[in-house]
Amino acid sequence: MKFLCVECDQQMAFAERALPGDGTLAATFKCPTCGRVVAMLTNPMETQLVASLGVEIGGRTVPAEPFEMVRTFVTDGRPDGQTATPSWSVDAQERLARVPSFVRGMVKRIYADYAKERGITEITPAIMDTARAELGLEGM
Ligand SMILES: [Zn+2]
Repeated sequence: MKFLCVECDQQMAFAERALPGDGTLAATFKCPTCGRVVAMLTNPMETQLVASLGVEIGGRTVPAEPFEMVRTFVTDGRPDGQTATPSWSVDAQERLARVPSFVRGMVKRIYADYAKERGITEITPAIMDTARAELGLEGM
């Protein structure tokens, strides 16, 4: 979730967050260029939704992984280790090798989780295609 200052085309920086204790959430964001401040208010249900998506607003100490929300969704509620880790066919390994290195580990995990949940023991390019379409990961 990001807030942009339309006038400056700048990403607004997190300024402060308040948790009043009644389930609502208030956060303010400030444009570093013009100083404009916007506030976000959520009702208890929205706060829960945001929390359940694993979105943290402010206070994050590590950089966000772009597909963290996708992975949370894919693995949510299903304990790992129910089935063996799927293996990768030679073709699939070659295809994985073409994924940019900075996202390869994450992409690999998404496919592995997908296969595990469906009891697939070997990941092939065909499985990768199906997973991509089903998970909406076109371009990975
Ligand atoms: Zn601005």
